[in-house]
Amino acid sequence: MSDDPSVFRTGPGPVQIDAERLAARVAELGRAIARDHADGPLHLICVLNGAFLFMADLVRAIDLPLTVDFISVASYGSRTESSGEVRLVKDLDQSLKGKHVVLVEDIVDTGLTMRYLLGYLEGRGPRSVKVAALLSKPSRRVVEVPVHYLGFEIDDAFVYGYGLDVDHHYRNLPFVTSMASTAEPEG
Ligand code: IMP
Repeated sequence: MSDDPSVFRTGPGPVQIDAERLAARVAELGRAIARDHADGPLHLICVLNGAFLFMADLVRAIDLPLTVDFISVASYGSRTESSGEVRLVKDLDQSLKGKHVVLVEDIVDTGLTMRYLLGYLEGRGPRSVKVAALLSKPSRRVVEVPVHYLGFEIDDAFVYGYGLDVDHHYRNLPFVTSMASTAEPEG
């Protein structure tokens, strides 16, 4: 669990993070990233697809010159039984040489995707690599990975909205919610 008092933790039960709370937290993360990278050059890498909204809001909250790139990976196995094998689907377009890289991810679950990505980026000669993740589920971690800028720490629930999907749907919801809070039949 994080010791950072600013990290929002959900207790047991449904996760519900509304648009206002998301915006406030993303603004804080943007300020922290700007404060830590005043010496530049700052390069943000968005992990597609889930981080696209977080990335879009985060870059606008960073008051520094920066560049952006996008990467996409797929993992084998199911959510509950991840094999740890990750495959590159879309590579980076730009060099990382001499750049301060911030990798922008939607959620760190087992940590296997992040471990693969960090290894991949480190091999490309960046000056530094840090991780910004909107969400983290520490109780699900299989491998320890660093998260330098964390939005919210949540319990083990499958969440969606604000970029995260359920079978490719719901990415456009302006809030983050979990199955339990919306899956109840009506009536
Ligand atoms: P990890 O490799 O187990 O850490 O998984 C990371 C990836 O799994 C994330 O980038 C998401 O794409 C996906 N994922 C994990 N948990 C959730 C969730 O609760 N909702 C939506 N996607 C998730």
